[in-house]
Amino acid sequence: MSITVVGTVAFDSIQTPFGKADRCIGGSATYFSVAASFFSQVELVAVVGEDFGDDDIAIFRGRNINLDGLQRVAGAKTFFWSGEYGFDLNVAKTRDTQLNVFAGFKPRLNESQRKSDVLFLANAEPTLQMDVLRQCERPRLVALDTMNLWIATAKDALTRILSEVDLVIINEAEVRQYTGEANLVQGAHHILGLGPKTLVIKRGEYGVLMVTGDAIFAAPAYPLETVFDPTGAGDTFAGGFLGYLGSRRDITDGEMRRAIIFGSVLASFTVEKFSLDRLREITLSEVQERYQDFRTLTHFDDFERA
Ligand code: AMP
Repeated sequence: MSITVVGTVAFDSIQTPFGKADRCIGGSATYFSVAASFFSQVELVAVVGEDFGDDDIAIFRGRNINLDGLQRVAGAKTFFWSGEYGFDLNVAKTRDTQLNVFAGFKPRLNESQRKSDVLFLANAEPTLQMDVLRQCERPRLVALDTMNLWIATAKDALTRILSEVDLVIINEAEVRQYTGEANLVQGAHHILGLGPKTLVIKRGEYGVLMVTGDAIFAAPAYPLETVFDPTGAGDTFAGGFLGYLGSRRDITDGEMRRAIIFGSVLASFTVEKFSLDRLREITLSEVQERYQDFRTLTHFDDFERA
């Protein structure tokens, strides 16, 4: 089964307390595709400039990623983002965003992209996300990510698309910003009231909360000794989560929970090195091994009743 993702393929310059990386590969759709391709066939829909060379495109090769939807525009520059983190790695400070070739991006999906079972609308202007959704033939699952910028500048358009998707993957600060609720569970129910069936709230080093109409599932982040660069953790999580779900015949509550853990496992690899340096070198068996570590981490027995 296949997943279509529409988002950024980028160059990032990143500074963390532990070092810096200049013009390394980044972008929401990049992290997402590489993570999702461990489990499902990915249809990548994105745009890059002439400066994104064959060596850079190699990040996608040899994986289950179809590049028919990756446009390279001659004479243009690739989307560029520069960010910085302090000791609180949960908070990214944007230093610079240059939309470049992404500014004029009007994706036109081909037939196989339109017919995918799963659609991931990575963080982008809500009207672009809506335009993509309108082109698809009702996928089994539509998921969306967003960011503080669109909550501040395009809230009405964001509200319209929230009412048309099945699942929203969002940071805890964005839940509070969008809803004005300090309490995350109340904030989650506010967003679920708009239409989505499931809300997955990313809480950085504190893990993930999945909220549906009548249940909550919580997973910790994998406790690592070295966290180097949190960039892309959210998109990697989304890739692992939806990639796993896309490979399942039925989307049951049990499968959703397993998907949350696979997303968390993949994200835990991403943060161990800059850019996709760690994600690109791991194997499926390392992913499965860390999934087992997660089970050990969170397992406890029932207590004995008197
Ligand atoms: P995250 O998973 O939230 O850490 O996403 C990080 C990635 O998002 C980086 O590699 C950036 O290239 C990309 N990014 C940053 N700002 C934007 C934006 N305004 N629109 C789309 N992608 C962005």
